[in-house]
Amino acid sequence: MNNAEWITHGKAALLGNNARAPLVLVKGFGSRLWDADGTRYLDLAGGIAVTLVGHCHPRIVKVLSDQAGTLMHVSNLWYTDKAIAFAEALTHRTGLSKVYLCHSGAEANEALIKLARRYHYENKAPARTEIIATHNSFHGRTLGALSVTGQPKYHQGMQPLLPNVTFVPYNDIDAMRAAVTPQTAAVIVEPIQAEGGIIVPPSSYLADIRRLCDETGALMLVDEVQTGFGRTGKFLACEWSNIQPDAVSFAKGIGAGFPLGAMVVREPFIGGLPPGTHSSTQGGNPLAAAVGLEVLKMIDDEKLVEHAQATGEYLHGRLRSLQGYHPNKISEVRGKGLLQGLALAEGYEAAQVLAQLREHHVLASLAGSKVVRFTPSLLIDRDELDEGLAVVEKVFGAL
Ligand SMILES: *Cc1c(COP(=O)(O)O)cnc(C)c1O
Repeated sequence: MNNAEWITHGKAALLGNNARAPLVLVKGFGSRLWDADGTRYLDLAGGIAVTLVGHCHPRIVKVLSDQAGTLMHVSNLWYTDKAIAFAEALTHRTGLSKVYLCHSGAEANEALIKLARRYHYENKAPARTEIIATHNSFHGRTLGALSVTGQPKYHQGMQPLLPNVTFVPYNDIDAMRAAVTPQTAAVIVEPIQAEGGIIVPPSSYLADIRRLCDETGALMLVDEVQTGFGRTGKFLACEWSNIQPDAVSFAKGIGAGFPLGAMVVREPFIGGLPPGTHSSTQGGNPLAAAVGLEVLKMIDDEKLVEHAQATGEYLHGRLRSLQGYHPNKISEVRGKGLLQGLALAEGYEAAQVLAQLREHHVLASLAGSKVVRFTPSLLIDRDELDEGLAVVEKVFGAL
């Protein structure tokens, strides 16, 4: 079937909860994707910051197929070698102490919230149930993660949500300090608000939250689902602020396209979820863990963090010059590493730019309605990036 025929079937069979662009992708390699008509695309969306090492990287394919032929799942009734090896590597990489494995960002954030509440309960402070979150944040779609997501449009029709959540403006430490009470269990924050439009706070913001949490005994929960695993040019985006969170969530790039999520916890808080208090039947199964371990090895072998930083600076610079040519169309260039966005000026919609890019066989994504987001593979090379940027320049020229 061709694109159009597949789309007819897709509209009939898939629930309409996602607003999808009219493209049926059937194959990928590196930073290239092919649709059902055989058209080739340059992928600067990277599956929304997921395909960290591009599509179908031979190392990922090999690990997946080897592990699929060895052991895929046994449940958490037992240990598996792969989950242990991956958890060990992840604690070494983060400098944190212990790991909980799951499948997605929302699930990893559920684990953060439950860890914080249960930690205080275990420590005879059961009334510490409040969570402080930020306006315009995004932490996922399950009800707990949604409850700390500060975007009313996602709450509509889904209430009642989790009680005792207080939202404060992002990058406003005074507002956060004023919101913390003796009942506060935790603060949850993104180092960069990615879905919220790629809002990059100064590095002092996370450091100030760290100090506030130290003073008040609230846990500092950092959502690195989109920013972690090298995306911003550091392994953890909170390394830009030189701080350690009490617990951190990962997903997206951690499995490079295979569903995987994790919570990693700092030493004082590792007793927060004693046996029986939280689990996931398939979370951290050996297939997923083997992929996660290979991704970590590739980050080291291929120097992906350094590459993300250098390539990201290049991309940011090129986008800034584009803004220089089109100040009436582009209001701001925001981002760090290979998480970059073009904020559009009044009168322009990001969806319109994406459609134009697609016409020229380049794929990017939206961050909010006003930001065109670029989150390519951390392995993308300069030639591919230049090819994509030439198209972006052409599209803005004609807009
Ligand atoms: C994407 C995202 C999530 C949700 O991850 P899912 O895997 O879709 O559940 C949570 N937090 C942040 C910061 C994200 O970017």
